[in-house]
Amino acid sequence: MKKGKVIPLSEPCLCGHEWRNVKECLDTGWVSSVGSYVERFESDVARYAGRKYAVACASGTAALHTALMAAEVGEGDEVIMPSLTFAAPAFAVRYTGAWPVFVDVEPRHWQIDVQKTADFISRQCKVSRKGIFNRLTKRKIKAIIPVHLLGHPVDMAPLMELAGRLGLVVIEDAAESIGSQYRGRNTGSAADIACFSFNGNKIITCGGGGMLATNDPKIAKRSRHLTTQAKADGVEYIHDAIGYNYRLTNLQAAIGVAQMEKLDDFVEKKRAIAKRYDEGLRGLEGLLLPQEASWARSTFWLYTVLVNAKKYGMDSRALMKKLSGAGIQSRPLWRPLHLQGIFKGCASFQITEAVRLYKEALSLPSSMTLGRAGQSRVIGIIKNNGRI
Ligand SMILES: *Cc1c(COP(=O)(O)O)cnc(C)c1O
Repeated sequence: MKKGKVIPLSEPCLCGHEWRNVKECLDTGWVSSVGSYVERFESDVARYAGRKYAVACASGTAALHTALMAAEVGEGDEVIMPSLTFAAPAFAVRYTGAWPVFVDVEPRHWQIDVQKTADFISRQCKVSRKGIFNRLTKRKIKAIIPVHLLGHPVDMAPLMELAGRLGLVVIEDAAESIGSQYRGRNTGSAADIACFSFNGNKIITCGGGGMLATNDPKIAKRSRHLTTQAKADGVEYIHDAIGYNYRLTNLQAAIGVAQMEKLDDFVEKKRAIAKRYDEGLRGLEGLLLPQEASWARSTFWLYTVLVNAKKYGMDSRALMKKLSGAGIQSRPLWRPLHLQGIFKGCASFQITEAVRLYKEALSLPSSMTLGRAGQSRVIGIIKNNGRI
């Protein structure tokens, strides 16, 4: 490691009313899972997503699990999702006893490939009155989870059209995309249910936490019930389902409320960082920069480039090591889920792009706190083929 501070990949920016709000919780004793900040955080996120209801959860993963249960996805069902994603949505599907089905991402914006998904259904599935069945596994396909990867929105219109035609529930995984827009509307506003994450490396954080948002009162009610231990009677402690303690605390929500006030500002900062990377790295041999679709406003949660080993002179992992040697954190994308041993038994369909992206992609430091000098250092080293 060189002298000087490490430049982190993505660190939180706690620069608003976080201290004040947390102090208020401590001073008043409202630290646990009931309190005014939980309600405020829920209404802030509901408003952001243009939804009637939002239910705070302990994590984004818990929100996904709850959303699936509320949508009645269960034992032996299947759920379509991209192979290239952080594993949480696939884990959540397995918690319910259902199985993920992995599809590819499209090459331009690296989001779930809706055309290939449609091909999968027309070639591999039997569509009948009883629903859609995977011919190979005989399982019923219940839902689809589009993940807005790296803060760039999925092309939701054709996806919603496909799902609507087939009667599939759509659960948007907006864990990486709060603050981004699809055709002028915030991500998380298009599907039946949307899930958000407030983990420390996400755009806004409350230390750890999540939320689901929906317009469906039944889903909202069922979700709240399941996340709060499924009490049918809170005095006699009669439970009518297997419940979960998936609540968010008022302390966490106090931070979340302060972070929501900063969301627009954070997105501006992230976009400015992306613009500086674009300008600094444009035209560099062997490096492909991320592209924003004409209908998208991305948050560039993690600014990610593709490294062509032949043309650039080294591959993404070698560049990662060089950057690390200079005290700069970077990271490849997630290993595609269909290649992971734990998901060996799951169906997948024609996945090629996800594998290529996994090999070539490298995410660069993208914190709101990244200064111009730090970013220039990152750009300089990449331009200089890893030499400091
Ligand atoms: C971070 C993330 C999650 C999980 O959120 P947690 O709050 O960490 O549980 C889910 N999906 C995606 C795509 C994520 O990036």
